[in-house]
Amino acid sequence: MNSLAEKINKMLVAKDSQDSLTQVNVKGCVIGGEQIVVIAGPCAIESEDWLKETAFKVRGAGAAMLRGGAFKPRTSPYSFQGLGEEGLITLAKIGEAMNMPVITEVMDSEDIPVVSEYSDILQVGARNMHNFSLLKKLGQIDKPVLLKRGMAATVEEWLLAAEYILAGGNNQVVLCERGTRSAEKWTRNTLDLSAAALAKELTHLPVIVDPSHGTGVRSLVAPMAKAAIAAGADGLIVEVHPHPERALSDGEQSLTPRQFSILMREIEPIGKVMGRRVR
Ligand code: PEP
Ligand code: MN
Repeated sequence: MNSLAEKINKMLVAKDSQDSLTQVNVKGCVIGGEQIVVIAGPCAIESEDWLKETAFKVRGAGAAMLRGGAFKPRTSPYSFQGLGEEGLITLAKIGEAMNMPVITEVMDSEDIPVVSEYSDILQVGARNMHNFSLLKKLGQIDKPVLLKRGMAATVEEWLLAAEYILAGGNNQVVLCERGTRSAEKWTRNTLDLSAAALAKELTHLPVIVDPSHGTGVRSLVAPMAKAAIAAGADGLIVEVHPHPERALSDGEQSLTPRQFSILMREIEPIGKVMGRRVR
């Protein structure tokens, strides 16, 4: 065992705590298997029509799962906060119609029941990675969890956050690298692909990458998505919006459906080199 692996020795997240790698089954879509699972959709659910259009186009391009926030963690209390339960209902309805599993963020422990009712996997956002009471409660549910890395969290803290969920009895956890804050001003975050590769080395849990929040810049999403696959990521979560200039949140980092479709074609050969398939 190398010295980094020794640091998480005897923990449930440690790779050598089990014989095989964890595969997380989200309504038939397996993360951590042969397929590189691409999750796509808007930052926030804004209207049924836009979500339907997005779902139809990203599914056509090969996305396996649909994303969309209903409870949005916004820096300003005056920014669009999401549609709440109405958004969840729309997300579930469109996911069902398109035959795509859906993912959305749970911001608060008290929302776990309603988010679980409509979403196939629950996302813990970067701002909540250190919310230990939320993590403990997610350890008790029978639904997969996507755990984003905190914006200033070390890999050790990120793995320990996952340990909270596993220790509660829920081992259906997917890790997501989404960049951390750095001195850089021209990107929103600094996407740390070494953290994704390190997590893959240390834990049996699947690791996906979010190049949208990881860069905050539309033109950088595709290069980072490709690099993530080459670095061994098990999947991607990408923001896509039919009219990014009119998006109520994160339009500047959202791909158009056309850009997403090109990206899907470009990652296919990279996945192949890595011994994976993209769809
Ligand atoms: C999101 O996925 O829309 C989101 C808010 O991400 P993060 O928690 O990584 O900022
Ligand atoms: Mn967003």
